[in-house]
Amino acid sequence: MIILPNTIAVCPGSFDPITVGHLDIIRRSAKLFDKVIVVVMVNYKKINSGVFTPEERVDFIKRCTADMDNVEVDNYSGLLAEYAAQKGAVAIVKGLRAMSDFEDEFQQALTNKCLNPAVETVFLTADTSNMFLSSSIVKQVCALGGDVSPFLPAPICEDVIKRLTKTERM
Ligand code: ADP
Repeated sequence: MIILPNTIAVCPGSFDPITVGHLDIIRRSAKLFDKVIVVVMVNYKKINSGVFTPEERVDFIKRCTADMDNVEVDNYSGLLAEYAAQKGAVAIVKGLRAMSDFEDEFQQALTNKCLNPAVETVFLTADTSNMFLSSSIVKQVCALGGDVSPFLPAPICEDVIKRLTKTERM
């Protein structure tokens, strides 16, 4: 595996909460770039369906990436293109699950390219086992009493399920 020297990548998302699918993309990015900054961002399409606070999401991601020396975790409520410039990032890494992700991701990548031409968006294909997985489906299945433990990273699994179950009862 070749690590691109002196390169910083940002890995943005809602991470509400982080799933094994997100973690796979972060782990693979950390093998490609010198430093990866996972950044919890506000997705205006999902603003009313958020369950976890930005601080909780950051804490969950930190616990899941504790074994990765070159991964940092942050949160930001502004423009991704500006954040990437502030951090000196050369790439934005996104995971692509299926064609259904493509149109939206393509639009975001082209917009970010206009806003910050110095940053390239790099797409990593989702692992076949995570193709169907999203934070929203985890929340839906858990709300209906299903077992979501296969979809959540081990360090946070119990806490996320407890918190989702509690939120559902409120
Ligand atoms: P979600 O759709 O789960 O709410 P986010 O908005 O947090 O996801 O997505 C952040 C990034 O992670 C996006 O690039 C998205 O395509 C990617 N991603 C989300 N789930 C997966 C998965 N199961 N496998 C690979 N990439 C994923």
